[in-house]
Amino acid sequence: MGDVRAMRLVGGHPAVDFVNTLGGAKNTPNDEYLHAYSDLVIWSERTGLIDSELAGGLARTAERRPQPAATALEDALQLRGHVDAILRATLAGRAPRAADLDAVRRAEVDALAHAALTPHFAWTWTATAFERPLWPLAHAVLDLLHSKPLDRLGECERCRWMFVDTSANRSRRWCSMDACGAIEKMRRHRAKH
Ligand SMILES: [Zn+2]
Repeated sequence: MGDVRAMRLVGGHPAVDFVNTLGGAKNTPNDEYLHAYSDLVIWSERTGLIDSELAGGLARTAERRPQPAATALEDALQLRGHVDAILRATLAGRAPRAADLDAVRRAEVDALAHAALTPHFAWTWTATAFERPLWPLAHAVLDLLHSKPLDRLGECERCRWMFVDTSANRSRRWCSMDACGAIEKMRRHRAKH
């Protein structure tokens, strides 16, 4: 049971950090950070996808209207599953499944349907719907899939967290030296003595 306020954002890209909101052991993901819609809002603010004013507004509205907020969270978790599958297929050198690609396409269609183009040719969103955090998120996913950092995608040796490895010789092994890196060091130390 993870606390989204304390979650380490070590993925190196918002789309990777999004997938990391379900962490834990590789085969039995058991460290969920998105328990409620408000967690999605906090996470989106922490990763810079929405600003604090909008985050406050969405959280307050969700308290009054829990049902549509829960539906938006469900949509986010569905998208997370598809992005997770695409990234893990990429890591394994496999082609992603058509169903996963289509889910990302649908999220991007929805995002662009609500977007405006700024004079600097960037997408921007102004609506305050519960789905609002998903729009820049869908766009971030496409950015990751299009961009070179995907070549540097790696997975922690101990847990299911992924990251964009920006080390010079691609030697990153852990999600974080404070978490899995420290546990592994301790394990080796004990094995030695
Ligand atoms: Zn780890």
